[in-house]
Amino acid sequence: MARHTKGRGRRAFTAPRTQSGTRSHRAECDRKPVSGRVAAAVVAAGALATGVGAAGGLDTGETRFLPVAAGSDLAAALVHTSAPSSPEIRTVHAVEPAFEAAKLMRSEGLLVRQHVDQAIRHASEGYTARQAELKRQQDAAAAERARVDAENARIAAEQARVAEQKAAEEAAKRPKVVKPAEGQFTSGFGARWGTSHYGVDIANSIGTPILSAMDGVVVEAGPASGFGLWVRVQHNDGTITIYGHVNETLVSAGQQVHAGQQIATMGNRGQSTGPHLHFEVWLNGSQKIDPVGWLGERGITL
Ligand SMILES: [Zn+2]
Repeated sequence: MARHTKGRGRRAFTAPRTQSGTRSHRAECDRKPVSGRVAAAVVAAGALATGVGAAGGLDTGETRFLPVAAGSDLAAALVHTSAPSSPEIRTVHAVEPAFEAAKLMRSEGLLVRQHVDQAIRHASEGYTARQAELKRQQDAAAAERARVDAENARIAAEQARVAEQKAAEEAAKRPKVVKPAEGQFTSGFGARWGTSHYGVDIANSIGTPILSAMDGVVVEAGPASGFGLWVRVQHNDGTITIYGHVNETLVSAGQQVHAGQQIATMGNRGQSTGPHLHFEVWLNGSQKIDPVGWLGERGITL
């Protein structure tokens, strides 16, 4: 950069040499008009100049500055600084690093806080949306379960109705009265061997099924004096039928039975002279009558 432009058609500016070899803007404003004019031009032009003497060893007692900016900037600078009567112009850009940093940090902090708030808001909105979607799904699932439950209940009710109807039809087809056991009629109701025989005897082999003569409820099934084991069934009109000397009871007290249902097997227990069923009929639960007539009135012949 040790170019000396004087002989190459470009103007060179000179200024008195200072101790430091460079000049500040502020210092230049304090100079005398002539020297200030030159130096100010240099500064206004960007001042990318080099002291020729210092750099190139051609120390002639003055420092030359080479302006490198456009001519218009230079001219403006000259106009401004060439007025001798101008008051001192001080352009002081005071910079407090801590204050500037604080401002910057505050600014950055505000921005960060804004971003955080935005992120929180977005997250909150997302959470709310997810919760709403979750609730919607749960509601839909609950509604579907309720629908399925209602459908199942409807099906169950229909099945129950069909079953009830079928049971009613089967009950209508069942006989109202049946013969309590198959076998040989061996003894009738009345006086026998010096005492009273309060029933009829039907003889057959041990194990022969014994059936309830009508629909009813078992009131007793178990041991009985003289009968070994017996079963007593009470019917809807209050009549009780007795089944004695049975070998085995197949029902228990309180059980609902229907006409023709097996309730015991034929046996030879108690005061018996051979395997047979002793059958009695108690009108109104107490009055012992001839079973032959009672059965005959109901279409059953022994
Ligand atoms: Zn008998």
